[in-house]
Amino acid sequence: MDADTGTSAHLPEEFVIRELLDASDLDALEREHGAAWADSGAVLRFRHLRTAARYWLAAALGDERAALSAPIADGWEAFTSVEWGAVHMRDAVNSELKAFSMRLVEVDGHGALEPQFSVDLLQVAALQLALLAADGLNARRCANETCGRGFVRQRSTRRKTTNRGEYAGTAHAVGVRYCSAECGKAQQAREHRRRKRVEKGDSA
Ligand SMILES: [Zn+2]
Repeated sequence: MDADTGTSAHLPEEFVIRELLDASDLDALEREHGAAWADSGAVLRFRHLRTAARYWLAAALGDERAALSAPIADGWEAFTSVEWGAVHMRDAVNSELKAFSMRLVEVDGHGALEPQFSVDLLQVAALQLALLAADGLNARRCANETCGRGFVRQRSTRRKTTNRGEYAGTAHAVGVRYCSAECGKAQQAREHRRRKRVEKGDSA
């Protein structure tokens, strides 16, 4: 929710370990998903949060080496231990979570009787990372050969389903091999083509 413009947007699930990690820089992320606060060191916040997300995903994949090589923000030394990575993640996420406070709000027929709660893109992404970590689920790598993305729950589709940028349901965390339904279809088609080629080779 942007207090100045009164606009709000929904972030796709696992945004913090997908779009945020895919974005080349903060500008690219903001063009697609809305702005971070302009006046609060957003680039540095972005770098720290991205390092935290890379660290968490690598750790949740059981990939200690990748967790240690999460490139940290300029001017920071590389992690030399998994514990250091975990401490960095804790501090980076907690710093963003200060934007959130639990409280009761009066509501009437028209909605909340208080000004809208206002948080930015990076703060919401940090909340996602905190909730992912709190879920205690393992991550896995997408079994689509050309993807290999780390994920927790499969996205049933990457297509935006509403003009507010919501994505269709992402329910499955257990027994899934692909990060998205599209990746499942792509890999199955690839394996089908391979079997066909083998069959042709046999009969030739
Ligand atoms: Zn995939």
